[in-house]
Amino acid sequence: MPTSVDPARLKLTPGAGAGGVLIGFGCLDCRVKVFGPATFCQSCSSEKLKPVEFSARGSLFSYTTVRVPPAGWPGPVPYILGEVELPEGPHVLAEIIECRPSDLTIGGAMELTILAIRGPESDQEWAVYKWRPATAAPPDGKAN
Ligand SMILES: [Zn+2]
Repeated sequence: MPTSVDPARLKLTPGAGAGGVLIGFGCLDCRVKVFGPATFCQSCSSEKLKPVEFSARGSLFSYTTVRVPPAGWPGPVPYILGEVELPEGPHVLAEIIECRPSDLTIGGAMELTILAIRGPESDQEWAVYKWRPATAAPPDGKAN
């Protein structure tokens, strides 16, 4: 069973395989929702927050190709970093996998995928969240 790489943002669902949902807080006063930890509402300063779980799908807001990764980045380089807007409002940054930059369209449907990766220095497995295009481009026989 992997451990969430960030338990304040990714809640794992018990059971076989790597599954989970993105979590955060919703403000009971102004209804704004935030991804990740919060002690008060960033919009209206209310402290009346309740935990929320977010949709596993969103739309691509922005993306870039990262050629110089942050220190300790475990994956291949370059990689695509995407900002996905959830239907509940928050934007979530994560790597986009299973596609090339030329496959992406701003506003395109993206879906969350949870991967279990092994740490470099132990047998500990970590669950990480990534985005991927929600629907693969159908094979249309055209040359790229
Ligand atoms: Zn608020």
